[in-house]
Amino acid sequence: MVNNSLIEKAIEEEMQDFKKMLSINKYVPLSFNNWQRGKSGSYSRKGICIDLGTVTEWYEQPYRTKYVLAHELVHAKFNEIRKPWLNIIVLPAMTLEYLMSELRANTIAFELLGQDADILVDYFNNFYVVKFNNPFNVNNGYLSGKTNVYLIKQNPSWNEKAIEDAIDFFTKKFLLLKICVTKNQKEKIKRDFKTLLIETKLD
Ligand SMILES: [Zn+2]
Repeated sequence: MVNNSLIEKAIEEEMQDFKKMLSINKYVPLSFNNWQRGKSGSYSRKGICIDLGTVTEWYEQPYRTKYVLAHELVHAKFNEIRKPWLNIIVLPAMTLEYLMSELRANTIAFELLGQDADILVDYFNNFYVVKFNNPFNVNNGYLSGKTNVYLIKQNPSWNEKAIEDAIDFFTKKFLLLKICVTKNQKEKIKRDFKTLLIETKLD
């Protein structure tokens, strides 16, 4: 039985570096879910929690673990905590917002990891859990791995063009969004994401 505490320490150190890169000054608690073998992580009021399956991945492919960590930190940066009841019924405009938040977290995580296309493809094809999207709607705004790779390759940096392209793509590809999200809602979401661009300057 290998002791995971060294890895947990390494993840904590990595988190401090990412926090600096993202200019996150607030305290973000980090915990590990040692009974959940899942390959993911989460961000909630309690902070970032990393699944056991993500922790142990550090032995073989540490950048997969780092991808999850960086993704959750972007949620922390923007205080993106989902309201639990909205995971049951998500209105179309909110689905679009969720899609944008997830894509932003994935794109900025890609930037933090040095924009390496091999890492991108490996992470989303071999590790990331969402494999398919229903063309009618997107459950809870979680995009399939394949679509993440497609969109992030087109816009490897999170900027105005990435926002415009993503909104266009989502409201064309997913029927429910195409039909139900109004032009005003689209423009508002676009504006809101653009307003927060200044905060994502990586240096
Ligand atoms: Zn997320």
